[in-house]
Amino acid sequence: MELTHIAKTVMEKRYLRLKEDGSKETPEEMLRRVAGVIAGVEAQYGASKKEVRAIEEAFYGLMDRQDFMPNSPTFTGAGTALGQLSACFVLPVGDSLVEIYETMKHAALIHQTGGGTGFAFSRLRPAGDKVRSSQGVASGPVSFLRVYNASTEAIKQGGTRRGANMGILRVDHPDILDFIESKADTTQITNFNISVGITDAFMAALEQGTDYELINPRNGEVTGKLSAKLVWDKLVENAWKTGEPGVIFIDRMNRRNPNNHVEVIEATNPCGEQPLPPYGSCNLGSINLANFVKNPYTAQAEVDWERLGQVARMATRFLDNVIDANKYPLPQIAEKARRDRRIGLGIMGWAEMLVQMGLAYDSDEAVALGNQVMTFIKQKAVEESMALAEARGAYPEWEGSQWHKAGLKVRNATMTTVAPTGTISLFAARPDLPCSGGIEPKFALVFTRNQAGAVMLDVDGQFATIAKREGWYSEELMQQVAERGTARGVAGVPERWQQVFATSHDISPEWHVRMQAAFQGADGLPVDRQPVDAAVSKTINFPHHASVEDVAKSYALAWQLGLKGITVYRDGSRASQVLTTGDKT
Ligand code: UDP
Repeated sequence: MELTHIAKTVMEKRYLRLKEDGSKETPEEMLRRVAGVIAGVEAQYGASKKEVRAIEEAFYGLMDRQDFMPNSPTFTGAGTALGQLSACFVLPVGDSLVEIYETMKHAALIHQTGGGTGFAFSRLRPAGDKVRSSQGVASGPVSFLRVYNASTEAIKQGGTRRGANMGILRVDHPDILDFIESKADTTQITNFNISVGITDAFMAALEQGTDYELINPRNGEVTGKLSAKLVWDKLVENAWKTGEPGVIFIDRMNRRNPNNHVEVIEATNPCGEQPLPPYGSCNLGSINLANFVKNPYTAQAEVDWERLGQVARMATRFLDNVIDANKYPLPQIAEKARRDRRIGLGIMGWAEMLVQMGLAYDSDEAVALGNQVMTFIKQKAVEESMALAEARGAYPEWEGSQWHKAGLKVRNATMTTVAPTGTISLFAARPDLPCSGGIEPKFALVFTRNQAGAVMLDVDGQFATIAKREGWYSEELMQQVAERGTARGVAGVPERWQQVFATSHDISPEWHVRMQAAFQGADGLPVDRQPVDAAVSKTINFPHHASVEDVAKSYALAWQLGLKGITVYRDGSRASQVLTTGDKT
């Protein structure tokens, strides 16, 4: 493995484990530990020692070549006492004090293992509603959202990372307006992302300009009506102000869930890429697309389909094994995971693949290629899942599923996703070939850093390589790109590379949404042709000067193009922002 400085630091701090002799394992030893545990599962299915060894080598190679990385909990959990390997969970919140606090306890146990949790608060009776046992009144979903947030704050994650949460409320819940406003003060509820669960009925009311009904989940009674436009406008305005709430199209998520014959999805995990049923979980892993271009940076550049196909199949096998190697935090979760056998094969380094292919992120060609690449990975995942089903059996809930109806006997209810890959993309990056998270464009080409009073330039590995190779690299030019936050319009950068090196702020929100849609796939596709059968984690970036109307247009386009959800962020709209470009750094 050829790791960047930052990857080494992160691994050292949080991923490498102490060995029996008290010394820390090396990155290679970490990969060996993970490959050994995950390949060990093969023995349960009758593989000989020699066969297990061969699979272990293959798994090790996937990671050592930086072709594929499993999600963080697999690195930190494999071969340890906790042994929890998944990143994504959804827990139900029932409408009683006992259920509310039981689930809060369960979330704490999951956070301890490095997993993130999502919840729908939609089943809770609204604020002010009757509570029979105490003759009092209910305090409502938003108050319990605050309680969950405080619990997360108190616990934090078992030394690995902070507990991340997603809170969802259906748009037809009587407390929806309070929920939409609940994060207007950006110092509040900081351990949660929040999203509104948008129904088809709401979208129809919005299109027709009518009211829609609010329903008390306790008894199904209609408690009142609201104008769909009023609610939508408030939602969009808050998203413009602070980036929250996001939306998820909850009925669409359920319609397109291949396993919707046995489960109802109410929520997603914290970053939105996994719509999951109650007690649902998913282990993720992502392919580094930057490694799959032949003749990069030339007119003959092409995707290495053959090797991509092999890696996608081996990665699918890896993730299916993770389900059996996993030690689940709750019996209900273990049982569900073994019944649906969800896995989440995703990608990262998409921006770097595009640069090698000579395509600008904001081009029709790039959008078409995104759809083609993800559809291909899905096809390979389905092939491997079918082969596994042949050898090990279909997943127990398969009968009656959309897979069954399509005549495809598979081992996994869902297979593909696009995760943020916030940490594992660092592990996949090399000094000369970076790896941007998921399908995000590059954030910047040149960062400036203050180091002991001196201004240092951090130049994107691909940008530096090309500039040096073609002879237009200079400190002054890099400084100029750093100041502008983009190569576009910088005279010293050849026109072609100005286009190809698009950064997230060069790209209009519409292109961001179109790219997300290319990976998600449109409504109505057959189950094996949906490129992503879970969902896509993506941030639609806006410049600071964008209007509320601009955000509204993106939300509308998201609905039109078949997205399962959307999250926006307007530059500078939150007090703390991890990455900034230009003179703000
Ligand atoms: N996640 C979390 N806490 C974090 C980061 C991630 O709980 O600090 C969970 C969350 O469910 C998220 C998922 O892990 O959606 C995947 O995130 P990412 O791909 O960034 O994780 P990585 O494997 O790169 O660490």
